[in-house]
Amino acid sequence: MPGGRAGPGAVTVRPQAMNAELTADERTRILAKTARFNPPPATLPDGRRDLVGLDRGELAAELVALGEKPFRAKQLWHWIYHQGVTDFARMNSIAAPLRARLAESFVIGRPEVATEQTSQDETRKWLFRFRDGQPVETVYIPDPELDRGAVCLSTQVGCTLSCRFCHTGTQNLVRNLGAAEILGQFMAARDSYGEWPSPSDDKPRLLSTIVVMGMGEPLYNYENTAKALRIIMDHEGIGLSRRRITLSTSGVVPLMDRCGTELGVNLAVSLHAVTDELRDEIVPLNRKYPIAELLAACRRYPGASNARRITFEYVMLRGVNDTEAEARELVRLLDGLPAKVNLIPFNPWPGAPYRTSTHEQTAKFAAILNAAGYSSPIRRPRGRDILAACGQLKTDAERPRAADQKAAL
Ligand code: SF4
Repeated sequence: MPGGRAGPGAVTVRPQAMNAELTADERTRILAKTARFNPPPATLPDGRRDLVGLDRGELAAELVALGEKPFRAKQLWHWIYHQGVTDFARMNSIAAPLRARLAESFVIGRPEVATEQTSQDETRKWLFRFRDGQPVETVYIPDPELDRGAVCLSTQVGCTLSCRFCHTGTQNLVRNLGAAEILGQFMAARDSYGEWPSPSDDKPRLLSTIVVMGMGEPLYNYENTAKALRIIMDHEGIGLSRRRITLSTSGVVPLMDRCGTELGVNLAVSLHAVTDELRDEIVPLNRKYPIAELLAACRRYPGASNARRITFEYVMLRGVNDTEAEARELVRLLDGLPAKVNLIPFNPWPGAPYRTSTHEQTAKFAAILNAAGYSSPIRRPRGRDILAACGQLKTDAERPRAADQKAAL
């Protein structure tokens, strides 16, 4: 949009409330609205309950309801989350009669693997299907320099936000994923690579980090995402440290504080523009939480430090957001923040409205950031041949029309 937007330096600070706390009314309204997008119940048609996704207290309560002592929960936890076992018959520290009773009442579920594709560059993408048939995509991205990589988890089927560079953003929100479904993606990925049991030492693992950057805005499904991550971080189970988990948000300011205080995971922010005028268009959530509010939330993010920098993601769009003046404005905006910037060459998808910046322009942009002391790696596109690269995920899931939902009841 040449000439159609304010130049760098024209960051608008809107007169919006700077208080990030939700009022009781806002909270009630948001909870009522999100309930419409809840995942299906965790019980199978045959009445057995899926144990994956229960926290320790809930697991103990299920066992007590079965007439067992709560300490059994610790044993089960170990089998489910440390050993990765899905069959009660293999739990040889539990007496055979109890194993049989557990199998009558419970299952240890996994999402169904609808498709699994591996890219020429070893990136692997799964289309997982959940109990109600809804699909999401999950990606494993190996690090080309190290013997390990990151699993990119989805948190919603579709998305409410319509970031213009993102393929998922062209799909409506169908529903939120439950904690079991978010966690289940990682467990199924581990199944795929045979990476059970969890490491008890520093043994190298391929699936060694998690990025919550797949389909959906995780902070718009905060409770389920937080529960899944707590289970993943539990040191007697999967045991992945919070330092190995990065949650990416488009900037849901009121929940960024909670995420930092309650989970303490690394934060990544989808920034992509340095003026509100342009960011309103590329990341429409900016109309609600403009750049100044977003950066204020970053400045107070608990745990951010030079050792644990906030990652700012910046997708390079040719002729849209990639001038040297914009790079200098980005330096100004980030001043004083423990930050690094990931420059992401735009990954095209069918019908995408953008082209990626030239390599020369991206290098110039990076040089300005680097000179100012901000580490600014240019992300190498991964898995483009299987549409697994950043911003390319999309399924054909659609939310059933209200009439269809009623008819199905
Ligand atoms: S970038 Fe993330 S928040 Fe934005 S539309 Fe895509 S999935 Fe949703």
